[in-house]
Amino acid sequence: MAPELHEPAPDLVCSARGCRSGAAHSLRWNNPRLHTPERRKTWLACDEHREHLSAHLQVRGFLREVEAVEAAPLAASQRTA
Ligand SMILES: [Zn+2]
Repeated sequence: MAPELHEPAPDLVCSARGCRSGAAHSLRWNNPRLHTPERRKTWLACDEHREHLSAHLQVRGFLREVEAVEAAPLAASQRTA
């Protein structure tokens, strides 16, 4: 059964290049040149990369919302916030 790539579940891994950490944050963004206004793309970020990724989107005016991600089942030992 091939996993769908456009849905962030079930393995919630940070979207930063080369990062394999479990994601703690979901960055919802929209590129007005490519997407209709109600469309949302999602980047996942670990604690370490949340600022980096959100700043990347923010300077381009793409960032819409940042939401907490439910604890990923596989990231048991990462962090107990
Ligand atoms: Zn990361």
